[in-house]
Amino acid sequence: MKRFGRLAHPALALVALALAAAIAPARADFASCVSGLRSHALGQGISGATFDRMMSGVTPDMKIIEAMNAQPEFRTPIWDYLATLVDEQKIAEGRAMLARHASVLSRIEQAYGVDRHTVVAVWGVESDYGQVPGRWSLPQALSTAACFGTRRREFFRTELVSTMKIVQRGDLDAEKLRGSWAGAFGHTQFIPSTYLRLAVDFDGDGRRDLVDSIPDALASTANYLKKSGWITGASWGYEVRLPAGYAGPSGRTGKQDLASWAGRGITRIDGSALSGLPAAGLLLPAGRNGPAFLVTRNFDAAYAYNAAESYALAISVLSDRLRGRPGIRTPWPTDDRGLSRAERKELQERLVRAGYDVGKPDGAIGPLTRAAIKDVEAKLGMPQTGRAGGKVFDSLR
Ligand code: CA
Repeated sequence: MKRFGRLAHPALALVALALAAAIAPARADFASCVSGLRSHALGQGISGATFDRMMSGVTPDMKIIEAMNAQPEFRTPIWDYLATLVDEQKIAEGRAMLARHASVLSRIEQAYGVDRHTVVAVWGVESDYGQVPGRWSLPQALSTAACFGTRRREFFRTELVSTMKIVQRGDLDAEKLRGSWAGAFGHTQFIPSTYLRLAVDFDGDGRRDLVDSIPDALASTANYLKKSGWITGASWGYEVRLPAGYAGPSGRTGKQDLASWAGRGITRIDGSALSGLPAAGLLLPAGRNGPAFLVTRNFDAAYAYNAAESYALAISVLSDRLRGRPGIRTPWPTDDRGLSRAERKELQERLVRAGYDVGKPDGAIGPLTRAAIKDVEAKLGMPQTGRAGGKVFDSLR
């Protein structure tokens, strides 16, 4: 997210002013709120010393509330989501991680019954194999959200106390606690309560360290999937072909055996007969004119990690690519494809060369890039969406 100083749009500047005005009374209330949090934490077994040490010098940051309230400018199409999460860079780096950590991944498969490709895919999607450090201090983010959040204040209070339990138990040092504004952190992006419930010590040093120990992090991901109903040896599913004019049932949760789907005329994507899956649901992420998948309980286990079918599909397709299998074969129902991270960065570089100020090209599409894209879209006679898609990209090449 860009800092306020870089926002060009007058309406955004007004939002920034309004937020600045909101910070003054917030600070006055923060001390009394933290005092209430302290009483609550002590009632949950946190020592006064732990609480005071972790909250020492913490000030609220209303940018966290801004992040909480941020509304995406438009719903991200699933082809954009997958294009950035399952790009060639992610696949190449994932294969390197499979080789580098082969020994520990083998032991994780033995211990949890979850295959290495899925574990590494979750790692890649969650934290880009640990390369994306958390931006926010967890005590600051969670106390701000617990005191000034526009919703779910109790949730954030619980996560703050869970953070303190992680430190008090000696799993992590307080200064390691950096994550998302909502408290997800470490290689696996667990929120603190999930960390307490499902993190494991797999390197045997007595601490559950999902920030600096890759064995602990990968084993904790496997443990999460196992606890979410993973079926050892089963596939997440695969892409299928629907008969023309298919009007039968669909949906991830409407699971049926393969004979039932075969009876409706559904085949594997290459036209061969369905086989090799337990009960599966028919997932149509972009409707009946886009790719179709039969998905099993192992897809649901990935879904449990982040409660979005697009997310579970990204994990599943990335895991297949890491196995050396092809990606999705049916085109998405669009003539304006999504861009990989490398293409997004190149798009920004080309916008700079065309005279636009988009900041430093980094592949992250912020307000400046969106404004520039809208201008290009207008010149192309396209609707002005600000979306970084293939048509705008190709027009600048
Ligand atoms: Ca450990």
